Amino acid sequence: MGKIVRAITADGSARLFLEISTDIVKKAHKIHGTSKTVTAVIGRALTAASLMGCMLKDKNNSLTLQFNGDGPVGSVLCVSDYCGNVRGCVGDPTVELPANAQGKLDVGGAVGRGSFFVAKDMGTGEPYVGLCNIVSGEIAEDITQYFVTSEQTPTVCALGVRCDNECDCTSAGGYILQLLPGADEATISRLEENIGLIPSISKAVAMENAEEFIISTLFRGLEFEIFDEFDTEYRCTCSREGYEKALISLGVKELDDMIDEGKPIEMTCRFCDNKQTFTVDQLQALKAQIK
Ligand SMILES: [Zn+2]
Repeated sequence: MGKIVRAITADGSARLFLEISTDIVKKAHKIHGTSKTVTAVIGRALTAASLMGCMLKDKNNSLTLQFNGDGPVGSVLCVSDYCGNVRGCVGDPTVELPANAQGKLDVGGAVGRGSFFVAKDMGTGEPYVGLCNIVSGEIAEDITQYFVTSEQTPTVCALGVRCDNECDCTSAGGYILQLLPGADEATISRLEENIGLIPSISKAVAMENAEEFIISTLFRGLEFEIFDEFDTEYRCTCSREGYEKALISLGVKELDDMIDEGKPIEMTCRFCDNKQTFTVDQLQALKAQIK
């Protein structure tokens, strides 16, 4: 289980969403067999999407975060729900890069440059889509930029993932800190100072008392309230019915081509690697449902 904690300053100037997502990133690594660098890429993106998911307005809403950079990892796609449950996949999970100039996993190099978008599906037809240019591909800076340009909300996002030599995640997490309308100047200065007290988010989330440390450091000298905390997980929503609908939507001609092949087809979920097989008879039955 991952865990999200939400807190707000007593004067209503700023809110903080903090997540410890180690288990979520571990599961992503297990499903996709990610390299060290890609564990960091997908880990940061999953954490960001999860944190943004729980900013949605309604329990039926969902959020998609997709990076389309020109780096070797290809596209990075994450989908989250209102409770911060999240799933994700990347173009090439196995690509590995040398460490960057700072000796860190080269997330920015793996993602590359290009654009990314955030789509919020409110369940009312057309989703709300915010499109941005990738700033650095390091994910956190890009998310910060998204909030400033697309949502006009002064935001600081920090994300960190650590891996062992088997490329598995040993710790992951991050936070989104936002100013609320009418934020007090003295509180803003204090927050700016406090942010500098956590120079390494990867190190902070690896601490035993990570949540407590991060919240008390960011809100140092300020009165604040933790207004809720809840568990999150890597969760896929795929189902047999979903695949049936997808097959039906292909139309008669495509289904006929599959039926003519004369053998069962196997479909694999890109988020959870779950496999569904459809026999020729089952394909015939689906075809019969097309009016
Ligand atoms: Zn799935």
